[in-house]
Amino acid sequence: MATQKARTKAEPKPAPSTERAEIPEMNPFEAVSFFFDQAAEHLELADEMRQVLRGTYRELRVQVPIRMDDGRLEVFTGYRVQHNGARGPYKGGIRYHPDADLNEVRALAALMTWKTAVVDIPYGGAKGGVQCDPTKMSTGEKQRMTRRFTQMISYILGVNRDVPAPDVNTDAQTMAWMMDAYSGRYGYTPAIVTGKPVELGGSLGRDAATGRGVVYTLGEAAKDLKVDLDGASVAIQGFGNVGSWTARLIGELGCKVVAVSDVRGGIHRGAGLDVQAVYDHLRETGSVVDAPGTEAVSNEELLELDVDVLIPAALDRVISGANADRIKSKLVVEAANHPVTPSADQALHEAGAVVIPDILANAGGVTVSYFEWVQNIQQYRWEEDQVNTELRKVMAKAWGNVHARATVDAIPLRMAAFAIAVEKVEQAARLRGYV
Ligand code: NAD
Repeated sequence: MATQKARTKAEPKPAPSTERAEIPEMNPFEAVSFFFDQAAEHLELADEMRQVLRGTYRELRVQVPIRMDDGRLEVFTGYRVQHNGARGPYKGGIRYHPDADLNEVRALAALMTWKTAVVDIPYGGAKGGVQCDPTKMSTGEKQRMTRRFTQMISYILGVNRDVPAPDVNTDAQTMAWMMDAYSGRYGYTPAIVTGKPVELGGSLGRDAATGRGVVYTLGEAAKDLKVDLDGASVAIQGFGNVGSWTARLIGELGCKVVAVSDVRGGIHRGAGLDVQAVYDHLRETGSVVDAPGTEAVSNEELLELDVDVLIPAALDRVISGANADRIKSKLVVEAANHPVTPSADQALHEAGAVVIPDILANAGGVTVSYFEWVQNIQQYRWEEDQVNTELRKVMAKAWGNVHARATVDAIPLRMAAFAIAVEKVEQAARLRGYV
């Protein structure tokens, strides 16, 4: 390959050092770059190409002034970061969170580039965020903020340029406001965002897609890794879009969910939770905490439970060097983005745990976002069965590719997923003449 250093196929790679190098804790973008560098090293990617693929293409920071309900003016900061568009329009969610600073958004944008490449859908990677605490804002304030933010970033968006979606603390309603704000300026454009309400051109199955993709991936992984999921215990951190759908669907695999949590705390029941009852309790009270017939656990304790499968589905960096040696589960499925830091990743690997990486495990959401975009462009609606069937095919193929690569190259699943992704983006970048 033109931009790779010469290495013949037959030449064996040197065995990885068995010495444990201490990996420091890193900020989110450093961590994603660390995983990228590991893959680039494995692929012997040329330095010039590494420079292009590691950095972000465009970073937009905007001021979002909002008149709050009490008459005060609050000035929020928002970001849209486009990491790489070699394989298609930029794609990635919008997060509302106090920690959604430039560094975090940059990291999440890069993850999207690698994620869309692993599942081989024709998109690049982007992410957006507004640093705010939406739990303290009224619906009217959130709507005004969303419209203003959309207006501020609209000139770098476009159906064939950059297509946002929901992420932490944003949902179908947020996407409806974004679509309306964009359409007011550019004409009716449903394909400008995905994750919309079905009534406005959203795809059937999109709401459940990330959790469903987690479940499909785990099902495929269990077959290849020879893990018996019948009666297997599962703990899930986070009970929002991704966590709650994962919990509701994972019974299909024969597993029982023994613990779930949200920002207020967690609940545990060794014999298995009644997930639908927990979901109903959340709808009534706003939290899973105190669901009848359950014991309280903290978010930290949940991660350390002796379960067969651990699924972080809330925020990033929850498993770090500080708690990695207390994680008992031997199978960790990253439903959240970047829940395991590089130092924890190494510690888990050394302890014999298998980690199914975020860029594979949670790619079901962006995959069905792609199906939504396709439906909007074609002005044609798919049945939900078709959405789920196509999603299953994409996830099974991606898992198969990653597992095969990990086996052949004798590398962990994360490095295999990054290697596949980096190769795909490298090929597109080279063909387009970026380098
Ligand atoms: P969400 O806002 O719907 O839910 C987040 C959940 O995490 C809630 O239950 C919340 O209470 C909980 N939470 C928040 N702070 C917490 C804390 N400090 N400790 C414990 N729990 C906490 O968000 P989501 O869309 O479900 O996203 C969850 C993760 O999945 C994020 O990492 C996101 O980037 C990733 N992800 C989401 C999608 C998607 O389609 N929504 C797709 C791919 C990846």
